[in-house]
Amino acid sequence: MGSLERVVVVGASLAGLRAAETLRQVGWSGVLTLVSDEDEMPYDRPPLSKKLLAGEWEPDRIRLRRPDDFEGLRAEWVLGDRAVSLDTANRAVTLASGRTLEYDGLVIATGTAVRRLPGQPDWPGVHTLRSLADSLSLRAELDPGRRVVVIGAGFIGLEVAATARAKGCDVTVLEGAEAPMMRGLGSAMGRRAALVHADNGVDIRCGVSVAELTPADDGRVGGVRLSTGEIVPTDVVVVGVGVAPSTGWLEGSGLTIRDGVVCDEFLFAGAPGVFAAGDIVRWPHRLLEREVRVEHWTNASEQGAVAVKNLVASVSGGEPTAYAEVPFFWSDQFTSRIQFLGRAEVDDDVEVVIGGSDDRAFVALYHRDGRLTAALGVSRPKQVMPFRRLLAERATIDEARALAASFAV
Ligand SMILES: Cc1cc2nc3c(=O)[nH]c(=O)nc-3n(C[C@H](O)[C@H](O)[C@H](O)COP(=O)(O)OP(=O)(O)OC[C@H]3O[C@@H](n4cnc5c(N)ncnc54)[C@H](O)[C@@H]3O)c2cc1C
Repeated sequence: MGSLERVVVVGASLAGLRAAETLRQVGWSGVLTLVSDEDEMPYDRPPLSKKLLAGEWEPDRIRLRRPDDFEGLRAEWVLGDRAVSLDTANRAVTLASGRTLEYDGLVIATGTAVRRLPGQPDWPGVHTLRSLADSLSLRAELDPGRRVVVIGAGFIGLEVAATARAKGCDVTVLEGAEAPMMRGLGSAMGRRAALVHADNGVDIRCGVSVAELTPADDGRVGGVRLSTGEIVPTDVVVVGVGVAPSTGWLEGSGLTIRDGVVCDEFLFAGAPGVFAAGDIVRWPHRLLEREVRVEHWTNASEQGAVAVKNLVASVSGGEPTAYAEVPFFWSDQFTSRIQFLGRAEVDDDVEVVIGGSDDRAFVALYHRDGRLTAALGVSRPKQVMPFRRLLAERATIDEARALAASFAV
């Protein structure tokens, strides 16, 4: 395989692991190094806000592979060390420890890191959630009867709210937008999909603006002050205000950074031998006909594999593959499983095609200019997943309505 003797993967989570596995699966036998600033072998993040946070699962259960499978990769794992710079001319990554890793091929898979509130204090009781350690430290605080305020009604914030409520906490969610899950589902469907929270006693307050956190007498967090002056008293605060791509170490590398690493449709990052995968990638999506960055599990897993296949193709003269799958994610909140296919804009038209107006389980279709853009299913897995094929074929909304009607008979 030409001059591809050393591959370095920076970021050893889902996308990085899938990249490493795929290299071995395609028969590449060179020197493989995975670097992570976490001191952990790769683990799965979705349970951090669900089963692991609930205490139903322990950390061993969320490892992405068994110890034998990790060993079978014949890789060097550099854990607890951080990539601090990239020299694309000399093909070298420098780590915080001072070590330099030279590469023929590089996969950038450093994902995203949580955003914080401006001036967010580090008082006991104030949490964010991205890592295993974050989840375990929050879990230790979720005792029955405790007051928990979640700032941000996105998917992860609402999963935390549901898990905390199920553990007997008294939960309030504060959201600046007019509806929960607005960025992903739009306002009408966001409101509807969040009804399960009201059913279970979570108080979601939309259209409120958080000014600052306030301390209690014992030095812990004691409340959240809104811009109106009102203080919402609490014992625990979870800040869930989104994530930002972890691109700091790439400053000065010459790669194009714009809310992510800008790649072409083959996930090539623009410097010899450098590809990227997962939450960090911004790329032109052939099917969606626009540039996107996607922060979901399936995307990270699939892109890890595609990025290294294209890396190998770039040295062996093979044909690269464009990454243009239909985006997909899920979210579990109480008994609801939200599944979303495609990508909707906030002003797309949307209609519920399966489920009555009071049903908590339903399917909705999003469309624009007569074309299907997305499908949402809440606790209707069998009736939403078939829309993936229609989205991949750029079907019309009439074709999608016909498919929905066929499920009703
Ligand atoms: C709590 C939670 C719940 C989720 N639930 C769902 C869900 O239900 N459904 C869904 O579709 N998606 C969900 N996701 C999203 C999904 O987990 C992510 O899309 C996926 O983890 C992205 O994988 P990644 O490998 O691209 O990046 P990440 O998982 O972010 O991994 C990047 C890794 O790189 C490391 N790193 C960063 N900078 C450096 C550096 N300079 N040097 C070395 N290492 C570095 C990071 O520490 C991290 O280990 C959830 C995410 C979270 C946090």
